Amino acid sequence: MATDLSARLSAHENKGLYRKRLTLEGPQATDVTIDGKRYLAFCSNDYLGLANHSALIEAACHGARTYGVGSGASHLITGHSTAHHALEHALAQFVGLPQALLFSTGYMANMAVITALVGRGDAVFADKLNHASLNDAIVLSRATFTRYPHLELARLERCLADTKASRKLVATDAVFSMDGDIAPVAELLALCERYDAWLLLDDAHGFGVLGKQGQGILHAVDGFDLQSPRLIYMATLGKAAGVFGAFVAAQPEVIAALIQFAHSYGYTTATPPLLAHTLLTSLSLIEREVWRREILTAHRLRLSRGLQSCRWPLLPSATPIQPLRVGRSEEAVRLSAALREQGILVPAIRPPTVPKGEARLRISLSAAHSKEDVDRLIEALHAVAGNV
Ligand SMILES: *Cc1c(COP(=O)(O)O)cnc(C)c1O
Repeated sequence: MATDLSARLSAHENKGLYRKRLTLEGPQATDVTIDGKRYLAFCSNDYLGLANHSALIEAACHGARTYGVGSGASHLITGHSTAHHALEHALAQFVGLPQALLFSTGYMANMAVITALVGRGDAVFADKLNHASLNDAIVLSRATFTRYPHLELARLERCLADTKASRKLVATDAVFSMDGDIAPVAELLALCERYDAWLLLDDAHGFGVLGKQGQGILHAVDGFDLQSPRLIYMATLGKAAGVFGAFVAAQPEVIAALIQFAHSYGYTTATPPLLAHTLLTSLSLIEREVWRREILTAHRLRLSRGLQSCRWPLLPSATPIQPLRVGRSEEAVRLSAALREQGILVPAIRPPTVPKGEARLRISLSAAHSKEDVDRLIEALHAVAGNV
């Protein structure tokens, strides 16, 4: 047993897949300290720069004084507080759907939706580049699992037309986490309407970032009315919202089913109410401070202009996720290491997280970056291009 495990671990290491954690000495920020050394970081999902915002720190302290630090029970016993309740109400209003339900993490929210709505004999169709939490949830649900090639809606339509399952669900990232591209939500919803399927949209990277007020993918294009009883919206609160947690927004009947049937809702301790309290402040910053999204757009344009003549191309992305396609894993790792020597952190993303031959640097921009930070990254990439 033990030798088998060490063999697996060394095989993993020999393939260059061994993951090591960096230990931050201080808060999440664009300027982080690791092993006593300071780095300019383009790694986090703190797109709006809220994770270390003074108003949120104040709200967290106030929340702790009001509610204590632990929720002490699951939502179905006595863990549900007025702070959770107020946040659920505010989130539903903000994204424009009838009702919302809070979860401790996005991983658990995806588990809940998929396992509560489908089971053995049902069919789930998923984009090939979806987040791992959606895939894990589908396996756990025991439904038939079909992955369609990335954004190939014609293939998805054939799958929907061919299935004999009575209950069908389509699951997709709204913003793809390793590519930064955006799913064609209106077309997906039209397909789901035509074939009577649920549509689960995972907007982990769109909430707070897309839409004028940051309401996410459903508000990314003006004039769209993406209301539908088949739509189930999921977003996380630990990325652009800067805190922790996730929520699902949908019709009251769907929310009721999650409360009744989802194990990742009922069989787990409620998230500390102080976090829900903090998120109410975060939500109002997301909504009011439009300039954070404007800065993100300006950084994105600056980066793409600055890297036009670079050896590696940026993948087309209208989001703060800006992948630089390198190709070979070893080269991506060497490039990431060369930047690190210059005091800049950008993670190399390799298979199996991305397809073979598509290793990349995943540059994440934040409203907390300055223009000078973006310029420093551009200059460093040009400088290392000759030596990697
Ligand atoms: C991060 C992420 C999740 C998981 O959310 P957590 O709150 O971090 O558990 C789910 N889906 C996507 C697309 C993500 O990027």
